[in-house]
Amino acid sequence: MAPLLSLLIALNTHLKKYTYSLRQFLALPFLALFFLMVAVLVGMFFYNSVSMGRQMEQQLALVLNGRVNLYLGQIFSEPVTAVNTINRLYRSGKLRSGGVEDQARQIATVMSTLPELTVLNFGLEDGRHIGVNRSLNNGALHTSVVMSSAKPYRDVYSVTEDGQRDLFIFTDPNPFIPSMRPWYQSAVQHGKASWYPIYRYVASEIADVIGNFGIGYSMPVYDEKGKLFGVINSDIALGQISRYLRLLPLGEGGVAFIANDQNQLIGISNDTPLFRKQENVKEGATNLQLIHFNNNDSPLIRAAGDRLLQSGVGSSYLNLNGANYVEDVREFKTNSGLTLKVVVLLPETQFFPAIQSDIKSMLIFVLFALAIGVALVFIVAFRLSKPMVQITHWAEQLAQGNWELLRKTNNKGMRDYPIKEIRQLRKSFADMAASLHETVATLEQRVAERTAELELVNSNLSELSNTDGLTGIPNRRKFDAVLANEWSRATRTGQPLVLALIDIDWFKKYNDHYGHLAGDDCLRNVANILKAKIRRSSDLVARYGGEEFAIIAPAINKANAVEMANLICSTLAEACLPHAMSPFEVITASIGVALIVPTVEINPETLIQAADEALYHAKDSGRNQVICAEIEIAGEEQFFETEFKFEQS
Ligand code: GH3
Ligand code: MG
Ligand code: MG
Repeated sequence: MAPLLSLLIALNTHLKKYTYSLRQFLALPFLALFFLMVAVLVGMFFYNSVSMGRQMEQQLALVLNGRVNLYLGQIFSEPVTAVNTINRLYRSGKLRSGGVEDQARQIATVMSTLPELTVLNFGLEDGRHIGVNRSLNNGALHTSVVMSSAKPYRDVYSVTEDGQRDLFIFTDPNPFIPSMRPWYQSAVQHGKASWYPIYRYVASEIADVIGNFGIGYSMPVYDEKGKLFGVINSDIALGQISRYLRLLPLGEGGVAFIANDQNQLIGISNDTPLFRKQENVKEGATNLQLIHFNNNDSPLIRAAGDRLLQSGVGSSYLNLNGANYVEDVREFKTNSGLTLKVVVLLPETQFFPAIQSDIKSMLIFVLFALAIGVALVFIVAFRLSKPMVQITHWAEQLAQGNWELLRKTNNKGMRDYPIKEIRQLRKSFADMAASLHETVATLEQRVAERTAELELVNSNLSELSNTDGLTGIPNRRKFDAVLANEWSRATRTGQPLVLALIDIDWFKKYNDHYGHLAGDDCLRNVANILKAKIRRSSDLVARYGGEEFAIIAPAINKANAVEMANLICSTLAEACLPHAMSPFEVITASIGVALIVPTVEINPETLIQAADEALYHAKDSGRNQVICAEIEIAGEEQFFETEFKFEQS
């Protein structure tokens, strides 16, 4: 739990480090979930397959072991049946009634009903012997007879299909004394029927059992007086047990083996030998020894043997050099006292090819599902994010003041968008943008209106600030500005500039006589007369202050200037504005005119001063007249001396 939590935290911090597009952010968790699910599914499937393979393996081992058990039950019942049958025949007297030939036939007949038997013998205490062997190669029966202890050699005959002794084949050169045989001695020792230890057969070419070992059951037979008469034995060659085991469907690498209670191998499905030459023993009958399974040539058998010694009966896993095996150990037990252990070893990889092909088809299916899933994720992510991305785009456009895009794409294709909230969001955004657009438009219009109004007010204000309140003509402020402007222009063009100062005569007396309000009216009348006389648009009439007016006239010569001044003078007098206190009895004015060609060295005050002085002269000379000042400039560079000459017109 803790590592999972820390993984999630690490993932979260990692996610925070970067910026993702909405699509990525939507797709990422889905994809992660998908891959996780696929991993879990494949893992589970793989795990299940492997464990299923193991179970199948275990089951198979169990079934095979069961089969071996059945087989063992069948083959090991045969020696017991055979021995009991011969014993019954002996007890009933049937066996004794005939001659040796008939006895051999009876034994062969019993033998022929028991197909797994290799040997069925009746050895007598007096050294006689009748036995039947079955060839391991072709199943043919042979009978061998020792007629008397005086001649202890077996005569070997073939046997017909109905059990009759047939042709004489040969006489075994090896002496055969029944009481010396291990099965005989074991029966005598036990005093009753029992399984004797595994022994090696006497070499007999005919029986095809050279070098083979037998496992069997023997029974002592006593006569009426209780004296030992002989021993009946019947056994099975180990070679045929191995032959059976080799036929089992153990698959590649599978092994089955059977061990007796002394842990000697009595059957094995592979080619490793069950017996070995004993060291330091000369070639002979007893130099072959059975091998304890812990001594087998195969490391797998040795390991399985070790496991068998540790764990005993049951099913377990065995690992040898990285390969896993299922080891199934069962005990085989007969009522007659034989105990064996059957071991089946199956490699775990047996079912892997089948599982692998299952996994392959599963993987193809999963990959197919994954591809569809990923496609779905992208479709969903695209569909989900589309309106968001669109809204973001609009928002960007709106931020830049572009309303066109919104209008163009307004609600197009969004009416049937499947997600309610997003449709609503989209609509709300469009509505909001529309109302914002309207507001902005109204606002813009209002601002335009206000700006226009302001501009008007501004121009009015500037008009007002440049206009004399009493007379309505430009004021002194305007006069100063125009003079400075014309001065610099005339400086550039080199043309003359004329200034006329006009002062109403005896105006104090007018005020005193007619009153101040009448004086104001008079000033307005004079201003109107002056305005009417100025025709050129470049000329300016302004109220200079009090009852003084000024005219600025650029680019005009002296004669014209004087003429203009005289015209003003006469016009004013002819206007006959009554002035009882003036010697002229009407309103008159004195005018001082000055003309100059401005340069950078001199300033406008020179012109004003000259005009003012000319006006003074006009007053002095009797008023109601024009005096023109001529400006003479002399001197060097920085110091000028200005001299005015006055001229009465
Ligand atoms: P002069 O012939 O020498 O010019 O004599 P004057 O009386 O005209 O000159 P003065 O400078 O002695 O008097 C100017 C008078 O102008 C004084 C003042 O009462 C009058 N005045 C100045 N401004 C106004 C105004 O705006 N309205 C009225 N009604 N009178 C004004
Ligand atoms: Mg004055
Ligand atoms: Mg005056």
